[in-house]
Amino acid sequence: MYWKTGKEKKVQCILCPHRCHMEPDQVGICGVRKNIRGKLLTLNYGKLSSIALDPIEKKPIHFFQPGTQTLSIGSFGCNFFCEFCQNYSISKCIPETFSMTPEDVVNKATAFNVPSISYTYNEPTVFYEMVTETARLAKQKGLKNILVTNGYIEEEPRQEWERLMDAVNVDLKGFSKERYPGNFGGHLEKVKESILAYQKAMHLELTILVVPGINDWDGEIQEAIRWIAKIDPKIPIHLNRYYPTEHYREPATNLNDIRKLYNFAKEHLNNVRCGNF
Ligand code: SF4
Repeated sequence: MYWKTGKEKKVQCILCPHRCHMEPDQVGICGVRKNIRGKLLTLNYGKLSSIALDPIEKKPIHFFQPGTQTLSIGSFGCNFFCEFCQNYSISKCIPETFSMTPEDVVNKATAFNVPSISYTYNEPTVFYEMVTETARLAKQKGLKNILVTNGYIEEEPRQEWERLMDAVNVDLKGFSKERYPGNFGGHLEKVKESILAYQKAMHLELTILVVPGINDWDGEIQEAIRWIAKIDPKIPIHLNRYYPTEHYREPATNLNDIRKLYNFAKEHLNNVRCGNF
């Protein structure tokens, strides 16, 4: 889905704003969509790296079906490249996987008697076909669909999710349009477009991971908070603490910095939570 053919068996993927052009045998930036003999194929369809029952608050989603469990699934691949990624082993590596069809996932959710399925762990956009087919089936069975995403997706595929998903948490990684491409590998404006579209279509919560040296300077997060407040001060936000990873070694976010941001956010927004302690 969402690709075009070109001359000499070249293809272009139009699923996310990277709009990768691929020669035969090339993969896109996400590492999981490949030009095979002039057709764009996905390398992770039906391949799960994880499936687990989680409290919905862990997504984090705090104001939609609170107190329930959700069946969470993830695959591998990502269309961003954040040095501080906490899920590097599945976002940028090919992990061990097991096969499941959309029917298998929905049957598992029904067997566990949970009210929702969450598409999470790695970026659902680059797992688009599996997520969409599963969500369609889940909706038919009366289950809710929950998306945990970086929001970097083109408008047309996103519109399908606006119809299928019931709640979303978008990870807003910063708020500098100059630094967003270099730090994360995408354009802030496209993420903002997704946030606005999802906010109209479903329950929305936002997460900001406060990462020293990446987004905690120049009043960047404060600017993001002001922007969210203008959309709707009732949008819940999660200010999360970062911890060092294999590829980014800055010390964990200073608790005092989180406290200051929390106090600032509380002046503008109704629902502010701090997490990852
Ligand atoms: S989904 Fe992957 S292949 Fe497609 S445009 Fe985005 S990064 Fe490129």
